Amino acid sequence: MKIIKSPNQLNELLARERLHGRSVGFVPTMGALHAGHLSLVKTSNLENDVTVVSIFVNPTQFGPKEDYRKYPRTLAADKKLLHRFKVDYLFCPSTQAMYPQGYAKDVLQETGRWSLLARRLCGKFRPGHFQGVVTVMTKLLDIVGACRLYLGAKDYQQAVIINQLVKDLKMCVCVRILPTIREKNGLAMSSRNHYLGSKERERAAAISRVLKTLKTQVLALKKKASFFGLKRWARCELEKSVDQAQYFEIVDPLTLKPLKNFQPSMVALTACFVGKTRLIDNVIIIFPPGKKIRQSKKGFICGSSF
Ligand code: AMP
Repeated sequence: MKIIKSPNQLNELLARERLHGRSVGFVPTMGALHAGHLSLVKTSNLENDVTVVSIFVNPTQFGPKEDYRKYPRTLAADKKLLHRFKVDYLFCPSTQAMYPQGYAKDVLQETGRWSLLARRLCGKFRPGHFQGVVTVMTKLLDIVGACRLYLGAKDYQQAVIINQLVKDLKMCVCVRILPTIREKNGLAMSSRNHYLGSKERERAAAISRVLKTLKTQVLALKKKASFFGLKRWARCELEKSVDQAQYFEIVDPLTLKPLKNFQPSMVALTACFVGKTRLIDNVIIIFPPGKKIRQSKKGFICGSSF
């Protein structure tokens, strides 16, 4: 595994790889790697000749009161893992290399379609966060020139925004969004889980439990359930275990617009605080084809009618 710090050097090396007809898969991360990151690496290895992983804790996506300084940094352990997973290139640039003095920190105006998506959900509570994400992704994609980009559904809104960014800028990269990898108790793996004590980990597991139950209830339709009734139920259940449910929303998978009723495909997303740690999770809910969603005037779905 080649470890590269210079954007120019990586750009040249990968241009040479592509010139020789080798496809390049790219997995951008902020390090403190876990099985979620590694699932992206494994898929990239399977689907490409060359896999590039970046580790860069991007300062521009953290708010002034957020955890940039204390974000877990475990570079030595990360290098060993990536070496074991046969990654070809590890890109770990300095902040100075990514944001040289005199260069704009925000390369994109909030005019693209991505910015409409960025105002929703997490965007409401983390002003500037997605602006930072799309800035760093634009720079990274330009440096790497990847054929395929690997993202996790764990950060669903981020994945949808980056997918839209790629379309907005007509970038020649195929975006692959892969499923969330979870701990045994269901907790979505996250570098921020490092912050949780053992009791907090148990409480945090409620997030995925509630989302999973919600999905089961919607799909099984055993009970008469109202859309807003289920939403209220989910929020209530979350609040029994977490310290704050910052938001809980059921949205359209592509536009991220909050729904008022069930539709064939939906995503339920939440951000919750457990202690001081902010955790996000989501579940994708798709009705099997052929099943009709029957809704009464009050927005009920009735299992018996299928
Ligand atoms: P991060 O290092 O948190 O910025 O994440 C880097 C990439 O890994 C993003 O595309 C994340 O969505 C993805 N990722 C993080 N956690 C998971 C997980 N539990 N399962 C799958 N992908 C994940």
